[in-house]
Amino acid sequence: MTIEVGILGATGQVGQQFVALLANHPWFKVTWLGASERSAGKAYQDATAWRLAARLPDDVARLTVNNAAPGSAPQLMFSGLDSSVAGEIEGAFAEAGHLVVTNARNYRMERDVPLLIPEVNADHLGLLQCQGTRGWKGRIVTNPNCVVVVYAMALAPLRQFGLKTSIITTLQAISGAGYPGVASWDILGNVIPFIGGGEEQKIETETPKILGTIGNGAVEDHPLTISAAVTRVPVHNGHTASISVALEQKPDADAIVGAWNAFRGRPQELGLPSAPAQPLVYRTEQNRPQPALDVDRDGGMTVSIGRLRRCPVLDYKFVALGHNTIRGAAGAAILNAELMHREGLL
Ligand code: NAP
Repeated sequence: MTIEVGILGATGQVGQQFVALLANHPWFKVTWLGASERSAGKAYQDATAWRLAARLPDDVARLTVNNAAPGSAPQLMFSGLDSSVAGEIEGAFAEAGHLVVTNARNYRMERDVPLLIPEVNADHLGLLQCQGTRGWKGRIVTNPNCVVVVYAMALAPLRQFGLKTSIITTLQAISGAGYPGVASWDILGNVIPFIGGGEEQKIETETPKILGTIGNGAVEDHPLTISAAVTRVPVHNGHTASISVALEQKPDADAIVGAWNAFRGRPQELGLPSAPAQPLVYRTEQNRPQPALDVDRDGGMTVSIGRLRRCPVLDYKFVALGHNTIRGAAGAAILNAELMHREGLL
C-alpha cells in the first residue's frame, strides 16, 4: 500500500532532503508540496534551487507548489518549515486533521508532544493521546535539533552507567543554517562562535527530555546537567561535537565502546526502511570521525563516534558526528513516520 505524503517547507534545505530521501521510499509517495507565497503556484523545479547531489525526481519536479495551508494536502505531512512560521502553520494542519511530522523547534518542548528519536524513546509516542485535549483532529510529532539527535544518541547507551553531567562543544556545518545561510565572507576560513535561535539552550533542554522517562502522560526529564557551546565551521554537511561526560559508575573504556556498538532500538527490531543496521558506530582510528569521510555512512543515518579517552575534569571525553540534514532532520522525521506506521498510529 502506498501512503501519500506532503512536504511543508519543500523548497528549503530540509525540504529538498525530504524529496531526495522519499524518491524511492517503499511506503511513502510525495504528492503535495507547500512553501511560502514566494514559491506557491510555481513548478517545484522552478521554485527551488536544487543543490543536492541526488537527482531531483521528475514526478516531484513537475508538482506545483502550494500555499502552506490545509485543504487539498494528504493526511501525513512532513515539515521543514522555517520556525518563524512553523508554529502557526503546523498547528493549523493538526487542527484540520493532519499528522504533522516536523523538524521545526516550535512544538518540541510542549508537554504533550513527542520529541522523538525512535532508537532512544519510541515509547514517548504515548504522549500523542494527550493531544486530544487541544481539540486537534490531527497530531504533531517532532524530531530534535540537528545536534541534539547526534548527542542524545551517543548519550543514550551511557544512561546505564549513571549519566550525571556533560559538556558539549559543537562544530556545525553551514547547511544547518538553511539557504543561503551564512554569508561566504563570514564563514570561509573562519569559525563563528555563535548560532542564533537559542541553539545552546535547545541542546541543554531537548536532550534531557529525550533521555527522560514517560509516565502519567508526561515526560520526566533525565537529571543530566549539560553545558553547551556551539560554533559554525566551514563544512558542508555534518555536525561534529566534542563531548565530555561524568558518570556515577566507573566503567572502563571497553564497556563504553561495547555499549555504543551494541546499541539498537525499535527501528532495528522492526526493520524500518530508513533504519541503519547499527545506529552508533565507534571508529577506532585516532583521527576519526571526520565529516568529509564519515558523514554519509548508511545514507547519513548512522552516528559515528571516536576518540574515547579519559577526561581529567569529568570522566570521559569523545567525539561524535552525524549528518545534520539527514539524521538530524529529514531522515529523522521519515524514521519517525515509519515507526508510527508500523506501530499502527498513522
Ligand atoms: P530553509 O532552507 O531556510 O527553508 C525554509 C522553508 O520554509 C522554505 O521552504 C521556505 O519556503 C519555507 N517558508 C519560509 N517562510 C514561509 C512562510 N511564510 N510560509 C510558508 N513557508 C515558508 O531552512 P532549512 O534549513 O530547510 O530548515 C527548515 C526547518 O528545519 C527549520 O525550522 C530549521 O530550524 C529546521 N532544521 C534544520 C536543519 C538543518 O540542518 N538545516 C536541521 C534540523 C532542523 P520559500 O522557499 O517559499 O521561502
